Order: sequence, then structure tokens, then C-alpha cells
Amino acid sequence: MSEPWPYRYAMHLACPRCEAIHDLDSLQQLCPCGSPLLVRYDLAGLAARWRPEDLAGRPWNLWRYHELLPLARPEAIVSLGEVVTPLIELPSLGDDMQLPRLVMKDEGLLPTGSFKARGAAVGISRARELGVTHLAMPTNGNAGAAWALYAARAGIEATIAMPEDAPRITRQECTLAGAHLTLVDGLISDAGRQVARFVEATGAFDASTLKEPYRIEGKKTMGLELAEQLGWQLPDVILYPTGGGVGLIGIYKALQELQAIGWVSGSLPRLVAVQAKGCAPIVRAWQESAHESRFWEHSRTRAFGINVPKALGDFLVLEALYATEGCAIAVSESAIDWEQRRAAQLEGTFVCPEGAAVLAAARELSASGEIPAEAKVIALNTGAGIKYPDSRDLGLPLLAPEEDLAKHHAPYGRAL
Ligand SMILES: *Cc1c(COP(=O)(O)O)cnc(C)c1O
Ligand SMILES: [Zn+2]
Repeated sequence: MSEPWPYRYAMHLACPRCEAIHDLDSLQQLCPCGSPLLVRYDLAGLAARWRPEDLAGRPWNLWRYHELLPLARPEAIVSLGEVVTPLIELPSLGDDMQLPRLVMKDEGLLPTGSFKARGAAVGISRARELGVTHLAMPTNGNAGAAWALYAARAGIEATIAMPEDAPRITRQECTLAGAHLTLVDGLISDAGRQVARFVEATGAFDASTLKEPYRIEGKKTMGLELAEQLGWQLPDVILYPTGGGVGLIGIYKALQELQAIGWVSGSLPRLVAVQAKGCAPIVRAWQESAHESRFWEHSRTRAFGINVPKALGDFLVLEALYATEGCAIAVSESAIDWEQRRAAQLEGTFVCPEGAAVLAAARELSASGEIPAEAKVIALNTGAGIKYPDSRDLGLPLLAPEEDLAKHHAPYGRAL
């Protein structure tokens, strides 16, 4: 039996680049060497004292894994009712792409409609615990929305900078939550520069992707949940829509920690970073066998969450791909559109464009033989399709009241 909370197994923050150790209980941003910091746990202690059976009876939310989370006190939790997201089998779509064991983990059911809620739940809880009163961050939409709402719940002031063309609903989430939202004529990287100046000038806490160490711990719970849901048996392949890459780094970290405490065994699943052809810095780096990516000029994709031209944690993403013999692949906008419809029609799942990108990638990797038909494949759908209400012009017919519906019964949906 593990020690009851508030016993904490998190020990310190460590730099994966220069190996410096930093204090866990003061506010930290990047390592002075420029690298993100990662939370390190007493894995030997956990291996000795913590068992899967200890999870029995705990609530079905991400805090059931609190031994592998950084919070010191349960009272600090800021929650909007995060759920353990379902694994949805996709037999028809799977058959359609010769991957009969295709399963989707649907993150669209989380509060704020995307998996960004995981990062916000843990990141905001920890920020509150450490006394943050004002935070600032750039976003492509979903992260800003989640952090603004969780910050409101925690009584933390939020300043958010977002590209002007990010999904509109995410603006509303920020402004209704009382965040200071500024639109930026440019990309998330431009918004990031604005935030850096703002933080410098005001002393606000910088909650940019990977500039604080706890968002990744929240996203890591995708990997913990997945392993538990599969009975601590790992799948063969996990495909992830990669922008900043935090989710992929997090899943990798989770699986390594589970391996270290002996809850899973065997080789880790192959991790696949999926990007859009209009913004594929990780794919280019992987093709060059590089360990860092280069800035992707003029990036553009409808899958807004993965429109990140240069990620701070690129070296960690690439390391995870190489270490698991995974790969990186870019898909076209038309493949994303097509796959989004295909998934809705064959399975009734309304995935976000980023989730559609992952399914399109699975189809391509199956066709090229890169993923064999017998593989157990997990596709992450990182958000709800309904968060992108205005991102497509469906070209539907408009009927006058006296017109005959039957005549206009275009087989729009079926005409794939
Ligand atoms: C942010 C986001 C991503 C990319 O997440 P990272 O972990 O930063 O790579 C993918 N999909 C959606 C819907 C997102 O909001
Ligand atoms: Zn360092």
C-alpha cells in the first residue's frame, strides 16, 4: 500500500539537457541553459510501495495517479470534472484502412473540449499551490481557453495572446472567463514573443508551453490512463498530433515511469508524431535524422493546434521517436478533411482536424506497410470536432420554403 497523500513522491525538477537539478517548491521556468525542466519522482520508492491494486476505488479522474503527479496537497486541486476519456474501437474505419485493431482515445470529452484541460488542471493547480496570482501565455486557441477557464476557477489572473485566425470559440472562452485576451496578427511564435516581453515587464508567471514544468505532467496522464485502460498491456503504436509536442513527450514520460516502477513491461509502443504538410518541422527533422528542428516558415494548416513552427521541446519529441523506433509523418489538408468526414460517416465520431490528421496518418502508414495490419494502434483525438464550428464551408444547398426537399436530397455525406 502506498503512503497516503499528502506523501509526495515528486523529488525535484531536472534538466534533460544539462542535468542540473532544481528545487520543486519554488516557481521555476526554463533551466538557465534554455531547456524545459521535467519533474523527477522517487521511482524506486514507488516500485517498492505502489501497486496497480491501490488504484481500485479511487475516483475516475487524473488525480487517481497522484503518486506520479507533482501536487503537494490535495486541497490545491483545481478541477472542472476531468474524466478518464474513453477508448473507442473503430472497427469500420479500421477495416477501411486495413487496421482492424484501431482504437481512438477521445479527449474531446474533457472540460473545454480538448485535452488541454489535462495540462491546465495540473498546471493551474500547481500554480495556485505555489502562489501564482497572474500568468501569461501564447496559444493557438485550446490551451488559452483551458488555462483561462481553470485560472478563473483558481482566482488567478490570465493574460493570453492568440493568433487572430485561431478558432473563434476559444476567444469567447478566454474573454468570458475574464482573461486579458490580445489577438496577434501572426503565428503562435509571434504571440510568444509578445508574451515574453509582457512577462519581462510585469513579472507575470510565464505559462507558455514547456516554460513551466507542470503542464506536461498533466498531459502525461493520457499515457497513464491508456495503460490502465489496456490492463497495463501496451499497444504497438500510438499516433499523436504534434504541435508543441507536450502530449507526446508526456506520454513517453508516463510510459517510461510505468516501466521503471514495473507496472508495464516489454518494449514501448512506437510513437508517431503527426503533423500537417503546411507545418512539419518535426517531420523534416526526423527525415534528416536531426535532434532539433528548424523554424518552419509561413506555416499554415486548418488543424490549428498543430500549427507550431518551432517547438521548444522538439529535441525531446525527436528523442521519443528515435527511442521507440517510431516516426514522423505529415498529411495534407485534403487528407485531413476527407478523414474527418470518413470518421464521422463510418463511426459517428466527430473528431477535430488534429484528430483527423492522426487518422489520415494511420491510413497512410498502413498503406505503406509501415504499420502492419495486426498492430494494436491507438489514435489520439485531442479535441472535439464541435470546437471548430466555422472552420469549413460545407457548401450546402439553401432551399426556399416552397421548394421540394426531395429534389435537393444531395448525397453530400455519402459522396466520398
Ligand atoms: C494543442 C493541440 C494539439 C497539439 O498538442 P501538443 O501537445 O502541444 O503537441 C493537438 N490537438 C489539439 C486539438 C490541440 O489543441
Ligand atoms: Zn539545463
